[in-house]
Amino acid sequence: MVVLRLLQQMQKREKSFGIQMLSVQPDTKPKGCAGCNRKIKDRYLLKALDKYWHEDCLKCACCDCRLGEVGSTLYTKANLILCRRDYLRLFGVTGNCAACSKLIPAFEMVMRAKENVYHLDCFACQLCNQRFCVGDKFFLKNNMILCQTDYEEGLMKEGYAPQVR
Ligand SMILES: [Zn+2]
Ligand SMILES: [Zn+2]
Ligand SMILES: [Zn+2]
Ligand SMILES: [Zn+2]
Repeated sequence: MVVLRLLQQMQKREKSFGIQMLSVQPDTKPKGCAGCNRKIKDRYLLKALDKYWHEDCLKCACCDCRLGEVGSTLYTKANLILCRRDYLRLFGVTGNCAACSKLIPAFEMVMRAKENVYHLDCFACQLCNQRFCVGDKFFLKNNMILCQTDYEEGLMKEGYAPQVR
């Protein structure tokens, strides 16, 4: 059995990074582009992922769109740089809710308990529907979320003394 305390109430799984457009000061040494490795001699450059890029070089690995133009964020996964649309298309669905077993879209807020993920709405005691707040104790038993009361009741029925590990 697992006793868990709800520490972090929710987790946003979207991993996006900001893109900044900077104007190049004429008296500074030209920066190298992380895309093509050549020096950036343009008037503007992009800064993303702590690196500098030509406006043309910061592109989505999938659709080749110029990321500086489509938005101010980019997404990375497995060393690919992607626009939001492709990121969603490729990695948009990750895993099923351990309570209702429906798919959870990647960018929805989720609750985590051990390796399970849950819809926010599904994260409640599966017997009495009690919701949990940060700091509350909850139990995982046979992959069911239980509040303390139901967990202890279950143990009594099974004839064990409650045991908190
Ligand atoms: Zn470049
Ligand atoms: Zn794309
Ligand atoms: Zn669910
Ligand atoms: Zn309960």
